[in-house]
Amino acid sequence: MTNYDVIVIGAGPAGYVAAIRCAQLGLKTACVDDWLNDKQQPALGGTCLNVGCIPSKALLESSERFLDARTGLEKHGIEIDNVTLDLAAMMARKNKIVTELNRGVAGLFKSNGVTSINGHGFLKNKNTVEVTDGKKNGNKLNIGAKNIILAPGSKPVELGIAPVDNKAIVDSAGALSFHEVPKRLGIIGAGVIGLELGSVWHRLGAEVVILEAMEEFLPMADSQISREALRALKKQGLDIKMGAKVLSAKNSGELVSVAFETTKGKQTDTFDKLIVAVGRKPNSTGLFSESTDLIVNTRGFIEVDEHCYTGQHNIYAIGDVVRGPMLAHKGMEEGVMVAEIIAGQSGRVNYETIPSVIYTHPEIAWAGKSEQQLKAAGTSFKSGSFPFMASGRAKAAGETGGMIKVLADAKTDRVLGVHMIGARCSELIGQAVIAMEFGASSEDLAMTMFAHPTLSEVFHEAALAVDNRAIHMPNIKK
Ligand code: FAD
Ligand code: AMP
Repeated sequence: MTNYDVIVIGAGPAGYVAAIRCAQLGLKTACVDDWLNDKQQPALGGTCLNVGCIPSKALLESSERFLDARTGLEKHGIEIDNVTLDLAAMMARKNKIVTELNRGVAGLFKSNGVTSINGHGFLKNKNTVEVTDGKKNGNKLNIGAKNIILAPGSKPVELGIAPVDNKAIVDSAGALSFHEVPKRLGIIGAGVIGLELGSVWHRLGAEVVILEAMEEFLPMADSQISREALRALKKQGLDIKMGAKVLSAKNSGELVSVAFETTKGKQTDTFDKLIVAVGRKPNSTGLFSESTDLIVNTRGFIEVDEHCYTGQHNIYAIGDVVRGPMLAHKGMEEGVMVAEIIAGQSGRVNYETIPSVIYTHPEIAWAGKSEQQLKAAGTSFKSGSFPFMASGRAKAAGETGGMIKVLADAKTDRVLGVHMIGARCSELIGQAVIAMEFGASSEDLAMTMFAHPTLSEVFHEAALAVDNRAIHMPNIKK
């Protein structure tokens, strides 16, 4: 049996980053991953790279350009006739990006000396992983390690009332590979994934109806931003029905008939395709034997402390399989932390500043606490906001929708939360995270020089507005 210092199970963003960092720190490392692509070839990178972050962003980018070419360029004095869609080419581009990045992770494993093993890993005991080869008729191989990192990720939550058939009823993975643009597309769930996929297909020409059981739109975001987002997305033509609980969905062969209930009573609607986007659940079953003493909570997450230590033997768990937001960058940072702890260093993740981004148009992004969270905690705070409408660069770009809001502690002035809706907020939020990581006050940001004309100035002005000293808009006395 080959023995390693570390075996990582799962090569999604959490697992592959952990494996690379372990190898950088001189640990003999193997990474076991069972993902096979459509061609039944190993494809490193997990959900994020194969059917998540990357392909969705490729299609969001392509669809935005398509829409721009169709209706967005006239205002710039650019007229294009006969803009047509070649969906097959758009999908081929997306697939190529995924394949190149799959190879990229494989290359990084090679250059760092990580042993990559394709197959399903099962933790037989605290030091032994049994790998079942997915390709070659279930051959088994035992490998050993002093330390184990579990990074098996998550999968879509299934709805018994709307079973995925991968024909007309699909999950998020299926929705990234339609062969034609649905005429009418239904989506169950107005969460991040539902909104991003809805945006893609709406831009490409589908009529999109999103059915969301809850009354509150994007409850995890600052409520001022959620309200603005709902207004902007509805204005684009996304038919988002809040308080609409789906009761059943049936594929008749031609169309999917969906029954749902609102305060107005029961209704039905029919769609060419239906996407079930009601959340994701951790992949914690069939992963380890009872002898490892690992604890899985009622929601299926492996229990860990703030260092991702399971409390058992030398076993750690990271990424979507443990508490916290199911985000690739959160898993990556946990991977680095655990590798450094195993190597005897003092790794840490700051869970207070994890950025959240929704890649719709306008983009929605935030880090830290929202107004409603601060109010619930009884923290007194000051607030400053600034609209993109008053930014010269935003005007030049024709991207004047949205705003940035900075929340700072009323006594210490420390920045507690930053909330954004507007163009390029996925990039702008990085500035807020750096500020918060360094414990900046709103005055620190006010005293920082930002290049003109840039969208970043909107962040600067929002920080200035905390103390009523924004320059490029009248300050409203607070
Ligand atoms: P995963 O990426 O799920 O990887 C786990 C890997 O482990 C997989 O390859 C799996 O096959 C393998 N595995 C599982 N069990 C075993 C086993 N027993 N043996 C061997 N291998 C095993 N997050 C963002 O931060 N930004 C985004 O823009 C974003 N967009 C998304 C869009 C969509 C459509 C979806 C579905 C998700 C998106 N996410 C996004 C979420 C992101 O994909 C996840 O948070 C991230 O992939 C979690 O990483 P992970 O390493 O924990 O697990
Ligand atoms: P997220 O967990 O952010 O991906 O969002 C999933 C969304 O799906 C949540 O907002 C849920 O309220 C919503 N949801 C779950 N079940 C149903 C249902 N039967 N009908 C409509 N929406 C649902």
